[in-house]
Formats: sequence, structure tokens, C-alpha cells
Amino acid sequence: MSASPSVLFIGLGNMGFPMAVNLKNKNFSVTGFDINQDIVKNFSNQGGQVAESLEILKTQSFDFIISMLPSGHHVENLFAGEKGIFADIKQSTLIIDCSTIDIKTSQKISSIATEKKLKILDAPVSGGTKGAANATLTFIVGGEAEDLKKANPILQAMGKNIFHAGAHGLGQAAKMCNNMLLATHMIGTAEAIKLGKDVGISPKTLSTIMQSSSGKNWSLEFYNPCPDVMEGVPANNSYSGGFAVDLMVKDLTLAKDAQKNSHFPLGEKVFDIYKKHQQDGCGKKDFSSIFELKS
Ligand code: NAD
Repeated sequence: MSASPSVLFIGLGNMGFPMAVNLKNKNFSVTGFDINQDIVKNFSNQGGQVAESLEILKTQSFDFIISMLPSGHHVENLFAGEKGIFADIKQSTLIIDCSTIDIKTSQKISSIATEKKLKILDAPVSGGTKGAANATLTFIVGGEAEDLKKANPILQAMGKNIFHAGAHGLGQAAKMCNNMLLATHMIGTAEAIKLGKDVGISPKTLSTIMQSSSGKNWSLEFYNPCPDVMEGVPANNSYSGGFAVDLMVKDLTLAKDAQKNSHFPLGEKVFDIYKKHQQDGCGKKDFSSIFELKS
């Protein structure tokens, strides 16, 4: 591999953009691509190389291809659809799909890749847009250990913790369980702070107390859903940026669909609450806007 590994980064959204910028700043040779031209222009303005189309793969090979797309059908279309890019990817390239998608689609894509003798990992992330910007993401990886070893330097340039969950698709499985828990403690945190407000405790004081008490959790510590409690979180920016309610509903749907033999009463309730919030017109807002859930 050359001194400066080459990366094609596909999907420069809320997460992909800062991840690609981190790679660029850490001396990876990054080419960015997104179907949204405004985003591509922004990446170029930050000094990034950009691809006008994925036709670039017909003439150029990359050490790594990273995808960071909304959901399973986007990823399947990109790689294995009618104009899928699997046809143009060289066998020396390692593909790392960082999108959060359903286990079945992830496994289907990796088995098509394997048939074509292409190397692929599912590597969904946890840590939100803050983690993406600060290169402190957690990567939860499914696939061959040997491929993960090759991916380690590039994942380390974007994150802090890297876990091997097991075979292809199991990165997605672990991520799905994590996000059901995340949605649950975000709703719990929002309700506790609202209850505190109702009975006269300032949200800031209550949050400080709970952070050193048994109610401590990630939403409270890093992503407070109440405006004017914490700097730099979506709650302080009209719930824009961050992790959209639409994406959280997608993740909870993955969990709901995976519940074939068991009963998860709280998980199902959490899905219903986020679904209602989405139907109330809040799909594009950050998921911490559940603090504003209409009754
Ligand atoms: P986003 O909607 O902001 O970004 C997705 C990007 O993909 C968009 O810019 C879109 O234009 C682009 N895109 C869609 N189809 C494309 C295609 N065929 N080719 C190129 N670009 C294409 O979403 P996001 O918040 O960045 O999330 C991306 C993934 O990361 C999702 O799977 C999400 O569940 C997961 N995730 C998000 C967060 C978060 O906090 N936002 C945290 C962890 C994981």
C-alpha cells in the first residue's frame, strides 16, 4: 500500500462529511462523492478532492471505499443494484460500509461481494455527529478478522474504539441492539428532566445531579435533550443536525423486524413513541427533540 492510502468516501451527510474531513486531515488521499451537489461543493471548499460520478471507478482504483448512506436499499443499490459499483471495484480494494442497515441486507451484500472475490466489512458506528467530528466514534465491525486488521488504521483515524462483533452482519446486529437502548434512555432522560421542570428543579441543576447519580447515561452526559443545558448539542440548535428522528425510526424498525421469537415491551413502546413524533412532522429534527413530544 502507498504511503498515503487512497479512499473513495461515498455519502457525505451529517456523519460522512466530518469522517471524510478527518481522514483528509490525517493524510489519507480522500475523494468524496455524494448525490447532493451542494454537499460535494462544500467538501471541495474544505480542500477535499471530489468525484463527479462513480464512473471514476472505471479508471481509478482505491485502497478503501467507505460508504455512509441512510439505509439498506441505498447500500444495496449502490453496490449490487442495476448500475451497482461492485462491477467496477478492484479485488485489492477493501470496502467498509459504515451505514446502519438491516442484518439481512448487510449479509446479502457481503455474500454477493464474496462471490465476486471482493473484501467487505460492515462497520456501523456509534457516537453521533460529535463523535464523527472529534474522531471518537466507536466502530462495530462484522466480517473477516484479517480484513479488520487491514481496516484498523483507517478506522483509528476516525474513531477511538473498534470492536469485532463477529461474522458479516453481526456489526449491524450489535449496532441495532445499541440503538434500541439509546432511544430508550433518550426518552427516559427527556421525561425525567420534564418531570423535574414540572416540580420546580432547574434542568441544568437536575442534569448535574443525575450525572453523578444512578440515572447517569450517555444521553444525559453527552447529548442533553433540553435546550440551554449543554453546549454544542442539537437541543441548543433548534434540534437541527445530529441524528434525525427518521433515522432513529429506521433503526427501531430494524429492531422491531428482528424480534421474531421474543417480546420486548419497552422496545415496542419506544418504537411507538418515536413513530408518533415522526408523524407529528418531526422526522428531520434530531432525535433528542423527543423532549418536545406532543401529547
Ligand atoms: P444523512 O442523511 O445526513 O447522510 C446520508 C448522505 O448519503 C446524504 O448526504 C445523501 O445525499 C447521501 N446519499 C444517499 N444516497 C447516495 C448514493 N447513492 N450515493 C452517494 N450519496 C448518497 O445521514 P447521516 O446522519 O450521515 O447517517 C448516515 C448513516 O449513519 C445512517 O445509516 C445512520 O443511521 C448512521 N448513523 C448516523 C448517526 C448520526 O448521529 N447522524 C450516528 C450513527 C450512525
